[in-house]
Amino acid sequence: MITDKFGRRLQDLRISVIDRCNFRCRYCMPREVFGSDYAFMSKDELLQFDEIERITKIFVALGVKKLRLTGGEPLLRKDLPDLISRLARIPGLEDIALTTNASLLGKMATDLKEAGLQRVNVSLDALDDQTFMSVNDSGFSVHPIIENIYQATEAGLDIKINMVVKKGLNDHQILPMARFFKELGITLRFIEFMDVGQTNGWNFEHVMTKKDMYQQLSKQYELIPVEPAYFGEVAQRYRYRDSSTEVGFITSVSETFCSSCTRARVAADGHFFTCLFAGEGMNLKDFLRSGFTDDELRDVIIDRWQKRDDRYSELRTEETAKRSSKIEMSYIGG
Ligand code: SAM
Repeated sequence: MITDKFGRRLQDLRISVIDRCNFRCRYCMPREVFGSDYAFMSKDELLQFDEIERITKIFVALGVKKLRLTGGEPLLRKDLPDLISRLARIPGLEDIALTTNASLLGKMATDLKEAGLQRVNVSLDALDDQTFMSVNDSGFSVHPIIENIYQATEAGLDIKINMVVKKGLNDHQILPMARFFKELGITLRFIEFMDVGQTNGWNFEHVMTKKDMYQQLSKQYELIPVEPAYFGEVAQRYRYRDSSTEVGFITSVSETFCSSCTRARVAADGHFFTCLFAGEGMNLKDFLRSGFTDDELRDVIIDRWQKRDDRYSELRTEETAKRSSKIEMSYIGG
């Protein structure tokens, strides 16, 4: 077990498998910035499956038990089920999850499940087509996404829904989303809009806090707090009084949780970060491709983690939010 300067353990790993996405969500990859001339990573820049597997094994040997694959849109990565089946065979790795916009999930669900994927977080910000389309800015409507969620559930994947709420954009969808997913018995988590990257024009006024969202929900539903399932659980969980279905809040702006953050992140090009809001990462791909042994790789990761002292969300101000060095969510992986 290794710990950082604040005694935080290394427990979870997020790996971005691609920086491309087929959505252009206004708050994440605005089309003006991520247009047709945007320079996404070339095939050679991306970590190859052997490299992802090798890195994962090293992190698992250091104590990581949970892995989440993300992006960009991870389902755009060719042969993703092959990667998952390789990762699922790593001894000691207890849980593999995926974050996706679900646009391609339906047809891949069975293969993903058979490969060893257990859990999927689907990002869905509205049920109303007009709102959803104005968020994704790519012509995707809600109905096929819901169909894909049904198919994934039928394939045996454990699904949760994540909804980023931005004031004035989709806050009118809080209650319809809650009602719909409560009926289906699927956990919905509301995520506060964050100042990741530097292209989404974030400011505090756009943030719908947990308090705001809770107030809206409690006009309609009685919510009972649920104890965290493990140390470092990101969502604050509740259950509807008249059902076992849960609803959660991810309060990275209004009630920060840096002190229990046990996550390491590896971007699709192999840069290793210890914070979503970091400016610089450590290029593991260079080490991998220049002949480092597993022990040497392990030592650089340990050294980086032990020096970790970031706690960005605790220090956030309007000024830090404008900092120009913050990397984009589509690059580091959400
Ligand atoms: N394409 C996949 C998806 O849609 O889930 C994975 C990548 S996406 C960057 C991961 C998550 O980050 C999504 O749930 C997205 O809504 C969320 N996200 C992106 N920008 C955000 C922001 N500024 N604040 C909060 N969440 C954000």
